[in-house]
Amino acid sequence: MFNYLLDETQRQLRDEVRDFVKSIPRQMILDMDAEKITFPKEFLQEAARRNLLGCRYPVQWGGRGMDWVAAATAIEEIGTLGYVFACTFGVGAELVCDAIIIHGNDAQKEKYVKPLLCGEIFAAECLTEPRGGSDFFGTTTTAEDRGDHFVINGQKRFIVGGEGADYFLVYARTDPEADPHKGISAFIVDRGPGVESKYLYGLMGCRGGGASRLVFKDVRVPKENVVGSVNGGFEVFKTMMIPERLGTAAMTIGAARPALDVATGYTTRRKAFGQPVAQFQGVSFQVAEAAMLLDAARAMVYVTCRAVDQNEDGRRVRRMISETKKFVTESCQKVAHNAMQVMGGIGYTNVFPVERIFRDLRLASIWTGTNEVMSMIIANEWYKEYWANKQAGLTRDPEPDAAEADAEDEKIYE
Ligand SMILES: Cc1cc2nc3c(=O)[nH]c(=O)nc-3n(C[C@H](O)[C@H](O)[C@H](O)COP(=O)(O)OP(=O)(O)OC[C@H]3O[C@@H](n4cnc5c(N)ncnc54)[C@H](O)[C@@H]3O)c2cc1C
Repeated sequence: MFNYLLDETQRQLRDEVRDFVKSIPRQMILDMDAEKITFPKEFLQEAARRNLLGCRYPVQWGGRGMDWVAAATAIEEIGTLGYVFACTFGVGAELVCDAIIIHGNDAQKEKYVKPLLCGEIFAAECLTEPRGGSDFFGTTTTAEDRGDHFVINGQKRFIVGGEGADYFLVYARTDPEADPHKGISAFIVDRGPGVESKYLYGLMGCRGGGASRLVFKDVRVPKENVVGSVNGGFEVFKTMMIPERLGTAAMTIGAARPALDVATGYTTRRKAFGQPVAQFQGVSFQVAEAAMLLDAARAMVYVTCRAVDQNEDGRRVRRMISETKKFVTESCQKVAHNAMQVMGGIGYTNVFPVERIFRDLRLASIWTGTNEVMSMIIANEWYKEYWANKQAGLTRDPEPDAAEADAEDEKIYE
């Protein structure tokens, strides 16, 4: 825990979230994993009653007017309950509401944000389609302009809250001829005629979030439900990727933490060859590595939060967020791996929660943009930044600092 990174109000929020987390009955965690609960409405209602949802938003809309550092702290703590709790905590309040708060109008905030933050309604985010998730701009769901309303047709896949949500933020193509960056719009779609939840997936982990395939068939959506402008979906998508990936990073740390805790306790007590296994370096070094990775991951999350809070340059933020999502998710998967390894066979059973955490965290590098997509963004932004910096000449050029630097004949590029 980096207490010194938090101010008094942020620490207070974290402690409130910790109290909430402690209040959740163990049976709810087990029932979610067993999919006896398909979507945790009671959990979200209680979080809302405690005013924990959407703490970044203005008080006027039900938030607390706090910043990203505060939000990440809350999300991390929720993650300690299990990945799916943080996921459902975030998908409506942190993702869908973020789009409406930034791009929507007051009527939309009144109708869709306020009641969600009060726990009266629930929302889901619909980007991924059966034909592919990484290629967002290949969206084939269409929204046809019919004067005072649009008609949406298409399908979305793996939608958390597909079962359970009352409304959906749906991206659909509004101009099939245009470049996709200029031909997609974001809509608020109420669950109603033509919206059907078709299939609940048998997931490896992160169960109980109602992840399903949604079919939209001739769904009538009033014009006032466009978020932002018609054909302005890319603008909404761009800002949504901040909570999507930064939130994922924060919750992943929370989800991995208990694995390290359990493994630390176990290896202190478990004996082999007449001594606690923690006294073998082969064991304690794996615990040390996990602790180091968690601290490094958290440092990265909070540095990136600061960058977002201080409106750092958009391109730089895009790179930092992608790096954070990738580094944190891979580090936390390693934390869960080490935790299981040092516990031996019992770590692989459901006598301890490490196996559930391990299953849950496998998802971390796949969703909210795969880690390959993160690498693509990082590489893209890094090269641009490199050449811009070189042109600006702000720092010493390291290239001539080699003994044979003037061997121009050896510097062959083509
Ligand atoms: C449990 C769960 C919950 C989810 N929740 C939601 C949700 O609530 N809302 C939502 O919209 N989506 C959700 N998703 C979808 C998730 O974000 C996508 O699965 C993810 O973005 C990958 O898309 P895909 O599955 O179509 O894989 P594909 O895009 O088909 O990718 C397949 C493989 O190809 C790689 N690949 C693709 N393009 C490139 C490239 N250009 N360069 C290098 N490698 C590439 C990918 O990294 C991956 O390894 C969820 C998924 C799961 C499993």
